[in-house]
Amino acid sequence: METSQLPLPVGRDGGGMRIAIVGFQHETNSFSPGVTTAEAFGTPFGWPRLSRGEELLERLPGTAVPSAGALAALQAAGGTPVPIFWAIALPSAPVDHAAFEGYRDEILDGLRAALPLDGVFLELHGAMATTEEEDAEGAIIAAVRDLVGPDLPIVVSLDLHTNLTQRMVSCADFLDAYRTYPHVDMSETGARAMRRLISFVNGAPRPAAAFREVPFLLPLTAQATGAEPVCRLYRAAQEAGGDGRDVTLTLGFPLADIASAGPAIAAYAPDAATAEALAEAQLALWTAAEAEFAAPILPPAEAIAAARAVPPGPGPVVLADVQDNPGGGGTNDTTGLLQAMVDAGLDGALLVHIADAEAVAAARAAGPGAEIDVDLGGRSDPETGAPVPGPWRVCRLGDGRFTGQGPMYSGNAIDMGRVVLLERNGVQVIVAAGRMQASEPALIRHLGIEPAELPFLAVKSSVHFRGAYQEMAREILHVDAPGRVTMDLTRLPYRRALRPPAGTRRNSGQDTEKS
Ligand SMILES: [Zn+2]
Repeated sequence: METSQLPLPVGRDGGGMRIAIVGFQHETNSFSPGVTTAEAFGTPFGWPRLSRGEELLERLPGTAVPSAGALAALQAAGGTPVPIFWAIALPSAPVDHAAFEGYRDEILDGLRAALPLDGVFLELHGAMATTEEEDAEGAIIAAVRDLVGPDLPIVVSLDLHTNLTQRMVSCADFLDAYRTYPHVDMSETGARAMRRLISFVNGAPRPAAAFREVPFLLPLTAQATGAEPVCRLYRAAQEAGGDGRDVTLTLGFPLADIASAGPAIAAYAPDAATAEALAEAQLALWTAAEAEFAAPILPPAEAIAAARAVPPGPGPVVLADVQDNPGGGGTNDTTGLLQAMVDAGLDGALLVHIADAEAVAAARAAGPGAEIDVDLGGRSDPETGAPVPGPWRVCRLGDGRFTGQGPMYSGNAIDMGRVVLLERNGVQVIVAAGRMQASEPALIRHLGIEPAELPFLAVKSSVHFRGAYQEMAREILHVDAPGRVTMDLTRLPYRRALRPPAGTRRNSGQDTEKS
């Protein structure tokens, strides 16, 4: 450990600087069933595979993940990456604590062996909770700080959905976070964070930091950065920067039943008083906007009627099954919307997708054109509804292998395993064994269907689908079908979360002159 105290062999041009690259991401939904195991980090559909050492340099460049942008920025500065570890698991239940400790120790061992270093770049999510540790990222950053000592710069790239804590702010020299939802700036955020880290290595002073919690929770559908008031608040955060001042906003992941759940602000400035004032001014903007956070959501039958009432024209009406979003910990197999579509005979509609390995196997055994009598979906969580009974017609088979085209998975080599296209009563549904958020048009196209030509497109996604489909959509409707990614946060049985949903506080904006 004494090696970390050696003088840093770095010139002011940054040449030869050795920067450790670490990635470890999970977004934890406390209301998802089960426990997330170590193996879940080995099969992250849509994302790069778990990588160690030099594997990071083979698999990450060219993808959309933050470390890809960070590696490019480091290369541009003539620095040397020291790749340690990178892994992501799909959002799901709390991470098994022993699994977390195993990966954490692997990261720490890798960093220890790599010393002396000039800086540490961490790509973390910010909303990982284990079965024993609510603030997993805070624990990781603190452990890395303990290992490398107080002087080595640590900069962290975070997801917009981070549940930020004082510990995370205190233990890192700078935290940066995605500024878009859908997240179309992951790689850019990694590059920005790396440039900040390089500036510290080159002698730029570390800023003072101030932390503020926004006193309410936001549902995911109210967090889209293209909509007000979030759009305006991000603009204000950027405009407050400059002259050594920076504001990092995080919107929180509200399906985490932990004390730190909710939006937050990290403000950075050359001195503590300026940082505190900057954070306080940003917080005032947020509390003043509380009454504006609203996102309408329709029961399935009403949403289908509204979709049919949209005037004809190019592009699909998108029915967003926002509460069974696997990207938020949904099981990807609830059937509330699918059953309503079949009941209504919503002709020409496509739903993406139902995770059901048994239905895939039955359809492949029967072959295209056959009718199969399977109960579809609704297998993993009986509390969120029953399967949709057959018969289903097998339309097409796909190998589930394609390269990401949408902004979220762009460039990623995706292997979902075999997929099938089934049809009943005019409604088509893609079925795959695994989960993946419906924000990837290449999945639809690899089955020979052009999403822009569909009349109705149902997607299991809360907001990320907008990255791929907002431009082509005739209309977007949020559907209130069963799922574990609840949008009406007043329905959730919170036990640990401290902050109430926006608009439900006493003396919140909705109780004043705007009510
Ligand atoms: Zn996110």
